[in-house]
Parts: sequence; structure tokens; C-alpha cells
Amino acid sequence: MALKKAEEYITSIKSLGLEAYVMGEKASSLHEHPLIKPSLQAAAATFACAFSHDTRDLFRVQSSLTGEEVNRFTHIHQSNQDLINKVIMQRHCGNVTGCCFQRCVGLDAANAVFSVSYECDREHGTHYHERFREYWSRIQREDFMVDGAMTDPKGDRGKRPKDQRDPDLFLRVVEQKPHGVVVRGAKLHQTGMLNSHEMIVMPTMSMRPGEEQWAICFALPTNMTGIRHIYGRQASDTRKMENSLLDVGNPAFGGQEIMTVFEDVFVPEERIFLNGEVDQSDKLVERFAAYHRQSYGGCKTGVGDVLIGATALIARMNGIEKASHIREKIVEMIHLNETLFACGIACSAMGGPTLAGNYQIEMLLANVCKLNVTRFPYELARLATDVAGGILGTLPAAAALDDPEERPFLEKYLSSAEGVSVTDRMKVLRLIENLVVGPGAVGYLIESMHGAGSPMAQRIMIGRQGDLESKINQVKQLLDIS
Ligand code: SF4
Ligand code: FE
Repeated sequence: MALKKAEEYITSIKSLGLEAYVMGEKASSLHEHPLIKPSLQAAAATFACAFSHDTRDLFRVQSSLTGEEVNRFTHIHQSNQDLINKVIMQRHCGNVTGCCFQRCVGLDAANAVFSVSYECDREHGTHYHERFREYWSRIQREDFMVDGAMTDPKGDRGKRPKDQRDPDLFLRVVEQKPHGVVVRGAKLHQTGMLNSHEMIVMPTMSMRPGEEQWAICFALPTNMTGIRHIYGRQASDTRKMENSLLDVGNPAFGGQEIMTVFEDVFVPEERIFLNGEVDQSDKLVERFAAYHRQSYGGCKTGVGDVLIGATALIARMNGIEKASHIREKIVEMIHLNETLFACGIACSAMGGPTLAGNYQIEMLLANVCKLNVTRFPYELARLATDVAGGILGTLPAAAALDDPEERPFLEKYLSSAEGVSVTDRMKVLRLIENLVVGPGAVGYLIESMHGAGSPMAQRIMIGRQGDLESKINQVKQLLDIS
């Protein structure tokens, strides 16, 4: 059976024996580590949903490669409905976890590599597409989680890869061998890398003639010799090590971002999907980024739902839910959140087939989706902060509830509307805090700004795809201007 249960997924990840540097030391029992376990649980939710009564039909789909039933997180999209279902699925996962559940990057990478490898073969006579189909069929059969690795460190942003003082600042091929290549470099901001079985590595930007060594795309297991993972920390993350779930805000789930370093790692040829074809790198970057910009129309709205729910609940607990200005703010949050969702659905509904046969979203609308994502979650966070009140930033520690001297004062002076327990009120405040300034803000805010490309990248694409000339011509026609 090609579908893993959540427990089977967790067992299989643990069996990889992955190692990582966490907070300055090599961590043992990585997935029991209090900083990492919540992110593993969030990723596991993507497996659990394929077995849950309410969502199994959404999360299960027949594979176009193997004919078997697979998890939609490994699916090669076959229709506009598949693209729409992806966004709905991501929103659901955001609802369930209230954070980044990490599994979308591999899905987005696979769909981009699927079409680009096909087109590369047609233009260059290479044999990447068949290789990729075989590779991805195995991923589907095993129901693996795959990281999609794109972002290079980039060094001096004003210089091309070959002009950097250190050429490794863009991941590159350092040696071509008879049956593979040796690569060196790093990938930053790797979402869910330590919770993944495999990774697909792609170039970070469009490469030019003369930059062949940086135009490389391949797959490797995450536990490959020569690869090192360095854990990226998040705001207030050490609260996860304090044994107080209340102060963490999101008690069960969290995101994960990793710096992954490749020290002269051999990649066998059956795992290479681009090697020096610089003219294909642009397409690969654009398509992966566009799929991930669509993804945010799902996952960020799912987390947005959680923030809206928490904001409405704290307003109720504070006894102000009926105040007109509060209702107005909640409506504004819903409006912004649904606008993001509408963009995710729109770019899916307007997508179409690639030459390879899988479905690609409509690029302009995917970029509009992501540009909105760089703004709206910040506005939602501002409104949530406004409604929640100043106590959001000054709340005593959960440990105060266990202290017999402090607790009576908390019970007395943090009480709010009739029947609301102080502990429950603190839980909701901490969840909001988690999302607006705590560890959840990494996924909900900073990643909304920079994930799948910073705002300027979307503006450039919108400028390119907005088809300004045809708009000018429409006006000329309307006014009879030659
Ligand atoms: Fe998925 Fe969203 Fe996390 Fe990206 S940020 S991996 S789209 S949940
Ligand atoms: Fe992301």
C-alpha cells in the first residue's frame, strides 16, 4: 500500500538516523528533541489526514505514474481540479496544525521538475524526464516526504555566481564523473528538511551561458554522507524546552527551517534531472516559485483561520465580542484571509496543461496571490494584536499558575468575562502571541514575506505577465487612436 499512516511516517523518519546541529551542538535523538518534535508532528498531520474519515477523499488520489492510490502531497497534478484540491488540502492542514506543515515544497518541486525535464529532453536530447518519472514513482510508492531545496546563500547579491569571492555561495558541480557529479554549496531556509526522507535540489535563479556548473538539479536522501544540517532557531523557541505547553502557544505543532551544507557530495546520474542546460534553469525556478506562490493561498489562509478564530475567542473572553469596532475588525480579517484563498483558487482554476501533461497554475494570478500574502497576514496580525490588547505582550509565565503565592493574584486580576477561566484566556493569548511575534511568526509572517521569493520577485513577474501592451491597444481601439 502506497499510503503511510502518521505513526509509520514518524517511524520511518526516525529510522533514517538523521543528525543535525541544534543550538550549537550535534543533537542526538533528533526527533525527540523538544525544538524539533512539534515540527515532526505537523508534518505527520499530512499523513494522518489521508486516514481521517472527513478528509481521506481529499487527501487520496490515483497516481498518474503508478496507478495506485497515493497521498495528494506526492501527486503530479492532472487537472485544474487537482490544483484546486491542493489548495483546499493545504488550508485544511493549516487549520489542523496552526503552522507550516512543511510538505508542500517537495510537491511543488516535483511538479516543476516533471514539466521542465520533459521540455529539456525535447530541446537537448537529454533523458531526464524518464529518470524523474522513475524517481518520483518510488517516492509515491513509499509515500515519502520530500524537501524542495532552492535558495542558495548568494553572497554579494550584486554579483553573478562566477564573480563571487567564493564560488560555493551558489551550490555547484565541482566535478563531473563518469556516472554522476560531485556537488558543493549550501541551501538556506529549508522547510522541513529534517522531517523529510529525500530532497530535490534546484538552481536558485536563472543561469546564463558560462554558468553551467550552477545549473544543476538532482535528488538525494536527506541522510546522505557529506550533508550537514544546521537547525535555524525561531523567536521564543526555547520556551519549547521549558516544559510549559501553555507558554509555547501552539502546544502540539510548529515549523522547521534548516541550513543544509553539501561538502563534496556525490550524486549518481540516475538522480540528476538537469546538468548544465542553463536555458532550462529559468523555467525551473519560475515554475517551482509559482507553484509555491499558489501554495500560500492555501496554507496561509489555513493558519489565518486559526488566528481569526483565536482573535474572535479572546474578544468573547474579554466581553467585547459585540462591540461594533471589534466585529468590524474581525470582518476585515475574514475579508483579507478569503481574498488570499480566492487568489489560490483562481490561479488553480485558470491553470492549464504543460507539454509534459501535468497541470501548471496560471502564473500571473499565482504571483498576485503571493504578493498579497506579503501584506495581508501582517494586517491580520496587526488586527489580532489590536483586539487582544496589551496583555498580549506582558502576560506572566504559565509557571505563575503553579506558584501558590502568585496564582491567587492571577486568578483575581486576570479574570475577564463571566465563566472564563484565567488559564484558558492565557492559552488563547499565547496562541496569538505565537503567531504574531513567536515561533509561529516565522511561517506566518517572515515566510509570507520572503518564502517563494521576496515581494520584488512577484512584482517583476507581474510586470512581465501583466501584458500592458494589450491594455494600451484596447484603449487605442476604444478611442480610435492609430
Ligand atoms: Fe507548505 Fe505553507 Fe509550509 Fe510552504 S509555508 S511548506 S506552502 S505549509
Ligand atoms: Fe515556504
